[in-house]
Amino acid sequence: MSGPLLKVENLTKHYSLGTGFLKKTVPVIRAVEDVSFSVEAGETLCIVGESGCGKSTVARLLMRLVEPTGGRVLIDGTDIAGLKKDALHAWRRRMQMVFQDPYSSLNPRLTVEQIITEPVENFERLSRKQRQALAADLLQNVGMWPEMMHRLPSELSGGQRQRLGIARALSLNPSLIIADEAVSALDVSVQAQILNLLLDLQQQMGIAFVFISHDLGVVEHIAHRVAVMYLGRIVELAPCEALFAKPVHPYTEALIAAAPVPDPTHLRLKATVEGEMPSPINPPTGCAFHPRCPLAVERCRTEVPPLVSIADGRLAACHVRAPATDIPVHLEHSLAGVSDDTELWTPTQIAGLFATKYGEKAG
Ligand code: ADP
Repeated sequence: MSGPLLKVENLTKHYSLGTGFLKKTVPVIRAVEDVSFSVEAGETLCIVGESGCGKSTVARLLMRLVEPTGGRVLIDGTDIAGLKKDALHAWRRRMQMVFQDPYSSLNPRLTVEQIITEPVENFERLSRKQRQALAADLLQNVGMWPEMMHRLPSELSGGQRQRLGIARALSLNPSLIIADEAVSALDVSVQAQILNLLLDLQQQMGIAFVFISHDLGVVEHIAHRVAVMYLGRIVELAPCEALFAKPVHPYTEALIAAAPVPDPTHLRLKATVEGEMPSPINPPTGCAFHPRCPLAVERCRTEVPPLVSIADGRLAACHVRAPATDIPVHLEHSLAGVSDDTELWTPTQIAGLFATKYGEKAG
């Protein structure tokens, strides 16, 4: 099969806050706005951003747990919105979800064996022997002892419960797992074990992951590519190493600068971002990040920047760093009176980026 495993096109989700006769005045939460990306087989795409930026809503839209206001989700080229009952059932085998909270996402009254074999039994009837063999196999895959199959979730540690959640997701041999803050509730050492388990499983089984996290340390460890979301939109999408080495969007830069660094000798960029994320009910005009952005120029206040391709598979939505028009951005920048004496990128770097995009000589 050619083409990406998962393709998301212009996905949008608005939540209406109430109904009534005066429908025009009903406020709307713009949770996800015009989000597009793709995921190849065996790839890990991480979606990162502050709380409330729309990450979990994207996960729920991918799993068809909520209906989109607009846009499409395609698996192997098939739009999941058009699937009828049987096809939808078959599609559900291919995409599974691992949730943040292993305490509340497992039925406390079922044994480990029942929990991990339940998804398969929704599709086919298993004999007792088959069920036990499947449970033992799945437990071994996630580094647990087969003897644990008779326990209840309350008899397991947090890490073991998350392994159980992963075993359950694996039971249907999916092509894609959506993991929503799957390690956020765990201690740091257990987090590392679970992340390494996911990496091992990916290598062995070729599973693709959409991994949602607010934790850049986790993202840097496991992502092939990273999508950065701000107020419902993707503002930057890039291969992981390139994104951390040289973020393009000022928001990405600030996020990386704000993340804790385990090694105190490691140099981080000095960019910081002031203030809180605005409300998705009444987002700022133009680029939603402009009220917090040290590089904002007039265009940022009026025009939503498109997500444009820069180079080497990188995309960014920023009038200053990734201009979509032919106006030389460093010129507009100085005309707008924005000091280039910033600890963000130098004008030469910006010009270099501009040159990469337009094939001009950097200067
Ligand atoms: P994140 O996962 O990045 O923290 P969410 O996707 O949970 O963000 O939420 C994005 C925005 O959508 C938030 O402002 C949140 O309050 C709003 N939201 C999420 N789910 C609903 C819902 N069911 N009804 C109304 N608003 C919602």
